[in-house]
Amino acid sequence: MRYIEPHAHMVSRTTNDYTAMVTAGCRAVCEPAFWAGFDRSSAKGFYDYFCQLTEYEPRRAALFGLPHFCWLCINPKEAENVALAGEVIAMIPEFLGRGNVLGIGEIGLNKNTRNEMKILEKHVELAVAHDQLILVHTPHLEDKLKGTRLIVDLLKSHPGVRPERVIIDHVEEHTASIALDAGFWAGITLYPDSKCTPARAVDILETHGMERLWLNSACDWGVSDPLAVPKAAMEMRRRGHSDDEIDRLIYENPRAFLSQCPRFRID
Ligand SMILES: [Zn+2]
Repeated sequence: MRYIEPHAHMVSRTTNDYTAMVTAGCRAVCEPAFWAGFDRSSAKGFYDYFCQLTEYEPRRAALFGLPHFCWLCINPKEAENVALAGEVIAMIPEFLGRGNVLGIGEIGLNKNTRNEMKILEKHVELAVAHDQLILVHTPHLEDKLKGTRLIVDLLKSHPGVRPERVIIDHVEEHTASIALDAGFWAGITLYPDSKCTPARAVDILETHGMERLWLNSACDWGVSDPLAVPKAAMEMRRRGHSDDEIDRLIYENPRAFLSQCPRFRID
């Protein structure tokens, strides 16, 4: 089995996780910028984090033979502080030329507030101005449906956004078609406690088909599983999906989306 882990917060994982992922067939890992488990006190905290994502973490991954790519932004949770978010966004262009940067993400909404919407729009403008791919985080639980609709409406209303260059992540049963019907890609996140289990994820792809869909673990510092993608592949196999179908979903699909960024080269 081979797969791409398109959404993992490796700065919070151990070297044992790298070993396990590579052993399971992982061929590349992509790390969106996110909340660090605490609110950073200044834009300098983000400067250091962006250096970690573009310099240190790719070197750590390379020790395990794993190509590491990243996405840059200020996450929706900390974007509630509009002044701080403005400073961070102003800093991003100087990092966009770095060798492992794929685009702007994971941007989106957390609690669907006005401030979050304002900063989401700024990120979208930044991505369009610099011709970057976009990775979107959708809110959790009761905020997800409304948040996904707000995000898709905002993206559709922006004339510079090309849907095939945007992935809407953390979709579930009730939101997958909102993203897919509008021409965007959709990501299903596999989590032990919240978000989708492998069984639910396979139900979704059996309902919607595999077109423009990827799976990810979004593993971070919380309860999460860096091997969630290969475990979902085991569930697919148990239900009779062929090796070709599994390869298409967990390797070819993310490769097709990510290869729209010329920096994404893994073979
Ligand atoms: Zn994430």
